[in-house]
Amino acid sequence: MGQDQTADVDILIVGAGVTGIYQLYRAREAGYSAQMVEQGTGVGGTWYWNRYPGARYDSESYTYGYFFSEELFREWEWTEHFAGQAENERYFNYVVDKFDLRRLIRFNTKVTAAVWDEASATWLVEANDGYRARARYLVAATGVLSVPFYPAVPGREDFQGEAYHTGLWPKTPVDFAGKRVAVIGTGSSGVQVVPVIAPEVAELTVYQRTPNWATPLNNRPITPDEQAELKASFASIKETVGKSPSGFLHVHSDKSTFDDSPEDRLAFYERVWTLGGFGKIISNYRDMTLNPAANAEWSRFVADKIRSAVHDPATAEKLIPTDHGYAGKRPPYVTDYYEAFNRPNVKLVDLTQTPITTVTETGIETADGLREFDIIVWATGFDFGTGALNRLGAVGRDGLTLKEYWADGPLTYLGLMCHHFPNFFFPGGPHGAAGNNPRYSGDQSDFIAGIIDYARDHGQTAIEVPKALENEWTDMVNEAAYTMSPFKELSYFFGTNIPGKAKAFLLNSLGRPKLLQMMETAIKSDYDGFFPGPEGE
Ligand SMILES: Cc1cc2nc3c(=O)[nH]c(=O)nc-3n(C[C@H](O)[C@H](O)[C@H](O)COP(=O)(O)OP(=O)(O)OC[C@H]3O[C@@H](n4cnc5c(N)ncnc54)[C@H](O)[C@@H]3O)c2cc1C
Repeated sequence: MGQDQTADVDILIVGAGVTGIYQLYRAREAGYSAQMVEQGTGVGGTWYWNRYPGARYDSESYTYGYFFSEELFREWEWTEHFAGQAENERYFNYVVDKFDLRRLIRFNTKVTAAVWDEASATWLVEANDGYRARARYLVAATGVLSVPFYPAVPGREDFQGEAYHTGLWPKTPVDFAGKRVAVIGTGSSGVQVVPVIAPEVAELTVYQRTPNWATPLNNRPITPDEQAELKASFASIKETVGKSPSGFLHVHSDKSTFDDSPEDRLAFYERVWTLGGFGKIISNYRDMTLNPAANAEWSRFVADKIRSAVHDPATAEKLIPTDHGYAGKRPPYVTDYYEAFNRPNVKLVDLTQTPITTVTETGIETADGLREFDIIVWATGFDFGTGALNRLGAVGRDGLTLKEYWADGPLTYLGLMCHHFPNFFFPGGPHGAAGNNPRYSGDQSDFIAGIIDYARDHGQTAIEVPKALENEWTDMVNEAAYTMSPFKELSYFFGTNIPGKAKAFLLNSLGRPKLLQMMETAIKSDYDGFFPGPEGE
């Protein structure tokens, strides 16, 4: 299409991650004209951008991938229980090619404006490359962790060496061999990078603002027997993750911490320690995240594990969180993270004691002096939840921008649509997930596909969630953020990592069962209230 033409489509999907690809598949299967635009040059979303050494799933690979095609599930063989970035990116490329979706995707195209046109009940969308489209439905599958964040450190741009953000990693491999490297940040990405590059670099300095509780991922290759077992279990795995409150296969425990004697509790903790990824939360005592005494008990167990892994006691103490218990922030899962600090070439700088004063041309200056580096890795996270949606340039009914509407935090119905923005959906957005992401965003995409079909079948052109339903979900999410969610206000799930951002809970604090139940209610009511216009309009 030429630059001066406007594409006309039923459904325009923004973002070629796990969420958008599935929405595109559903749209094409249902016979709509569909187009996807993606600012990157390839598919995979998170798994396209985060190419840093050590980037990998902490959801089990086979629970993260799609379940809409048994054939796909059986023919794609994951090599590890928690596959790495390159394999994950290959998987998404395989999917778009297998289902012939690539020709519907336009790359290098960043949406910069999307304006609702009331008269035609369509969205007018503009992108940075001159692309323009008119779409009946706009689906922003733009991701919750897709806008990298840099802290406002003076001099950051002055550094003359190589500098990378983990969420914007280059496609050509970075050569760390023999280099003096700084890693800034010890969140989920930083703790994945450190152990992988530590053996290669000359010196590694890890700048930590606040430690998190990192527990073993317990990754391993999938054996041929396990591979056969997986293929044979498609139906049961699909059913289990389809019904699981968090979208995982991990089994929930029905025991509470103090039901057990101290000896039995220790034995239980040791068993939990050997589980993969999020098993540390889901299969732990059921009161571990919410009863402070239970949480302290498990946190003490993890602290002792850190002390036994790190040889230098002073370093070990610095690595143990003191401002939150386990899961007060999203816990990362690691392979040999703490052990990396036993290497003579790895040093920890505690930024609470010696904050960064400036980045210079040659290195990083803290209160105790300048350290020089060849490479700085910024593992400083993302503008979570609303970052990409607020940058979409979305303007809804009566000229209201999404950014204005969400100035005090997102207002959503089931984390997938909002009042004032007809025919606009954001699966995988804020208030949607709190677990194995693709299962939640898949539920949302199914709901979106269903309501669009319903509108088509009933001659409706505009879908808008009633304000009362948006209020109901948003209020419930905000209330439960403090009662049902383990996350504390210092977690980026409240947006508090971004200076000036309104503090608001950005995840789904109610869990997946409530999400599914409310979807069911809307479907059973024939989407009562969602079609404000007269029938046949
Ligand atoms: C390092 C890392 C590891 C993770 N591991 C897990 C895990 O193991 N399990 C889990 O459940 N979750 C994990 N997550 C969360 C992860 O983001 C989600 O699982 C999932 O990738 C979200 O998919 P998505 O399609 O909704 O968004 P994304 O994968 O973020 O894709 C969104 C896409 O939209 C594009 N986009 C955004 N704005 C625009 C625009 N204006 N114009 C054009 N394109 C745009 C982006 O370029 C991006 O490609 C991880 C996140 C990170 C960063």
